[in-house]
Amino acid sequence: MEKLIPFINDLHDILSQAGLSSELNLPSIVVIGSQSVGKSSLLESIVGREFLPRGKGIVTRRPIEIQLHQVLDAEQGWFEFMDKKGEKIFESEDIRKLIESETDKVAGKNKGISPVPIKVKYFSKDILDLQLIDLPGITKNPVGDQPQDIEQKVLDIVMPFINNQNSLILAVSKASDDLATSDGLKLARSVDPNGVRTIGVITQLDLMDEGTDALNDLLNQTYPLQLGYVGVIMRGQKDIQKNKTIGEQLKDEKTFFENHKLYKKYSEKMGVNFLVKTLNMNFIQHIKKALPIIRETIISLVQIKEFDLKQYGDYDNLETKENKNLLVLTLISKFSSSYKDMLEGRCLDITSKELIGGSRIIYVFNETFRRTIQRMNPFDVLSDDEIRTAIKNANGIRPTLFVPEGAFELLVRQQISRLRMPSIECSHIVFEELRRVVNQISIPEIDRFDTLANRISEVIENLLNRSLRQTEEIISNLIDIELGYINTSHPDFVSGMDMVHKDEQRQQQQVQQQQKEKSPLQSENESNRFFNFWPFKNNKQTELYDSKLDNLNKKRKSNIINQKQQKLQQAEESQILQQQSVINKIVSVNQQYFVNDPKRQLPQVPNTIKITDRPSKREQTEMDMIKDLLVSYFNLVKKNICDSVPKTIITFLVNQSRNFCERELIGMLYKQELVDELLQENQFIQKSRAETKQSLISLRTCLNLLNDLDSKF
Ligand code: GDP
Ligand code: MG
Repeated sequence: MEKLIPFINDLHDILSQAGLSSELNLPSIVVIGSQSVGKSSLLESIVGREFLPRGKGIVTRRPIEIQLHQVLDAEQGWFEFMDKKGEKIFESEDIRKLIESETDKVAGKNKGISPVPIKVKYFSKDILDLQLIDLPGITKNPVGDQPQDIEQKVLDIVMPFINNQNSLILAVSKASDDLATSDGLKLARSVDPNGVRTIGVITQLDLMDEGTDALNDLLNQTYPLQLGYVGVIMRGQKDIQKNKTIGEQLKDEKTFFENHKLYKKYSEKMGVNFLVKTLNMNFIQHIKKALPIIRETIISLVQIKEFDLKQYGDYDNLETKENKNLLVLTLISKFSSSYKDMLEGRCLDITSKELIGGSRIIYVFNETFRRTIQRMNPFDVLSDDEIRTAIKNANGIRPTLFVPEGAFELLVRQQISRLRMPSIECSHIVFEELRRVVNQISIPEIDRFDTLANRISEVIENLLNRSLRQTEEIISNLIDIELGYINTSHPDFVSGMDMVHKDEQRQQQQVQQQQKEKSPLQSENESNRFFNFWPFKNNKQTELYDSKLDNLNKKRKSNIINQKQQKLQQAEESQILQQQSVINKIVSVNQQYFVNDPKRQLPQVPNTIKITDRPSKREQTEMDMIKDLLVSYFNLVKKNICDSVPKTIITFLVNQSRNFCERELIGMLYKQELVDELLQENQFIQKSRAETKQSLISLRTCLNLLNDLDSKF
């Protein structure tokens, strides 16, 4: 059992050397209380040596961890300071100076404080094994370089030590203080409300006023703790000035308690020596309770460190050129597989709460691209006046009697051109998604080689850039193809003929309705429903219109077209004759006019002529028809583009980068002359691997010590 404290001391040493102290809450005895209650004096009394800095105000400005090792055959006690292992320091004065300079070094010279502990060991035959930590006293008033929030700063240092459930708390209070207001006890209660790991120490019992005593406090009646209270008397300032030794003081303390009228009954349970025995006994019990948790924690730390080490990769294996080459190949193939897996949904990150890899690309197609294209409407950018202008311009000097094909083609091409930018932009978004996939791939074995990781990214970036350019070109071609031939005979396209039929049907319904309302005679005169709709006054004109429309659909109706063409020819001839006679009439009228009013001049023709008047009934009909045709054909092209653009991007960008990734990487990076440069290991990884290896050695040593300990019981 008595081996437990040296064992814990060893664990403290091993783990602090490996920088693992904070990861494992090892048992300690932590001394807390207000400033000047006698904490440092108590530690010196326990050690039996005057080795701590002294003075007024805040003297202990860094935690001081003291390990006591009982060495039965030691003739003289000695100290060891920090990591100067094996260097024996016999003089108290020397160790005090070291503590002072070490405090100044980290916490500054003027009353500053620091949470970094100073570690001291003391070896002697006259002590019991212990491990104690002296802490800065709780103070409310800042002095020297201390900040205004000095109390909080001290608490920040103290709390982690007492929060450790494996620590015993030595809460020191002055006898003259009311225990209920003792800072040490209040703090202890905040982390140990049931008082199971707090021992109360009451100092300066010799300084109590005449007629007052601390018996109730000492008997655990005022502020009960499960481990109780111990009263102590240490050297006052005057004693120190008179060079009274700690040994002399211990004797005087014993005499004081044995002769005190109230305390003598309990004198065996008073004094520093009794406190040391109590501490030793309680500490051993405490360690015993903590051992199973310590073992578990060490085992899980070993597992974590082993995993970490694996992540850093085995460098010893990289001695030969063959091994290095093989590693480059393996890492390239690992990267390529990860890239493929991310795209094809084989990525095993089940913790991911968002879409990743390939699924994001499908989202881009469906939600970003398709929706935008589907929402596009010709009339977002095309006003009625613009349509009318286009019709008039397409007619040129010969206002035709039918819907002009030229205007339709012009307008529909404008609309198709609008699809080029979003389609190309879609390929850019997918390109960014692929770059994102590359960035998301995290393979620790690759990350340890900065150059290799960077070169892999560069090669993939190049491949993606090339694939993007090709994809852009093909998408552009897709739009050019749509622009190159306006296929009005597409089965899904509602042609001009269909429009006429649609209008016919509408007219038919109107006529039928009117017939119901009108007399039978009237209805006979207006028997041709189509004439009512168009502003044409005779059969010839209507026939002419029919034939023009049929001409638009000649590919589908070739047999009809032959007949219609004959009619059209006749109609055109008659129209030319008619126009000639009209022109002759106008010329003769004008000649008369100018004779009558020679001063009258024509207004000047403006530079820009815009349509401003309301459309005629005929114009309106033409416009409606063109609009229907536009919508129908644009929908057809949108459907094609929504289908062909994603297919192009998948084939020429996504699949291409996926299929050529490995080949490209091998071609660019698997080269004899590159291998050493590529496998230059990241310095941070080298350092981390060395540290992890050291941690593993330390943890395994601790586990062996634990096993040895078990075998001894
Ligand atoms: P700390 O700030 O809690 O570490 O307190 P110190 O150990 O520095 O003690 C503060 C002062 O109280 C010093 O002058 C000690 O000599 C004095 N002192 C501590 N304990 C006792 C005691 O039991 N009796 C007397 N008379 N003085 C004591
Ligand atoms: Mg102190």
